[in-house]
Amino acid sequence: MIKTLASLAIVVPCYNEEEVINETVSRLKVLLAKLLSENKIAPKSRLYLVDDGSRDKTWELLHGFARTDPSIVAVKLSRNKGHQNALYAGLCLTEEDMVVSIDADLQDDPANIERMVDEYYLGNDVVYGVRSKRDSDTFFKRFTAEGYYHLMRAMGVDLVFNHADFRLMSRRALDAFKQYPEFNLFLRGIIREVGFPSSIVEYERHARFAGESKYPLAKMLSFAWEGITSFSIVPLRLITVLGFCTGLVSFVVLVWVLLVRVFTDSAIPGWASILIPLLFVGSVQLLCLGIIGEYLGKLYSETKRRPKYHLSDMVVMDKEPPSSME
Ligand code: UDP
Ligand code: MG
Repeated sequence: MIKTLASLAIVVPCYNEEEVINETVSRLKVLLAKLLSENKIAPKSRLYLVDDGSRDKTWELLHGFARTDPSIVAVKLSRNKGHQNALYAGLCLTEEDMVVSIDADLQDDPANIERMVDEYYLGNDVVYGVRSKRDSDTFFKRFTAEGYYHLMRAMGVDLVFNHADFRLMSRRALDAFKQYPEFNLFLRGIIREVGFPSSIVEYERHARFAGESKYPLAKMLSFAWEGITSFSIVPLRLITVLGFCTGLVSFVVLVWVLLVRVFTDSAIPGWASILIPLLFVGSVQLLCLGIIGEYLGKLYSETKRRPKYHLSDMVVMDKEPPSSME
């Protein structure tokens, strides 16, 4: 597929990043200039810096960059809304043909953006940055993160292994993504859902250039839980499975209790009449909860109002394809 020269937007969410943002912006500007000189991007390419309600000097710095450089757009959110929302805000502001999202801390080397752009020209709408090594992460972080991807897969959630939020999206993929009106954002899951031709770019993730992680353990856990509850109804379905299992066990115990009651005289009076209803009611309750869970699951997917499909291509002999396909 031959594409004309595409413009590039790079979106960077920043939360208390005063220690790194100078370096990040200068590296991204160098990269934009390089891509421009190599004729890989159109001149109207831009850098979008989103301040996620920082409490340090980040906004003053972003403001300064945007005032002196027309290729930089700086925006400030009304308060700290979290990484995913900050990124979403930035993505929605862009108008360029390709949009790359990257963290402010230089853990993901911006040089890889060039490889992503190359993949775009090969016809890919989404290019996922995938960490080939996690050497810079602690054992705990690596273990929990990789375990999480496996858990999500087991629950039927389609995620790209070891991919976070360093990725390129084409305009049509981004426009499709914007049709997902859900409030709880788990971008890496939604973008997988959107589809379109995609490829990956593997890279080594470095340590933070400066400053500390803005994702403490509590935030990380709540993000992980967000991912599960936004994409899977398996936890609800497990209640039904549990109800069946306890039902089965109680049936076996029930037979045993009856046998003991009828054929031996070692049963204490009242034992069978307490145990049988106890087991029965317990499993019936779990099963009923499971059924409610199933309906809740339906309600949950309905309330998301996710688009049912996106067209990726269309061939018509007697008329022009709709303009949104171009
Ligand atoms: N970030 C944000 N809002 C937040 C937390 C983080 O915009 O509430 C940004 C942060 O500035 C960085 C990116 O999200 O650009 C990823 O955060 P960080 O590097 O601290 O996370 P880690 O790599 O440690 O998981
Ligand atoms: Mg980081």
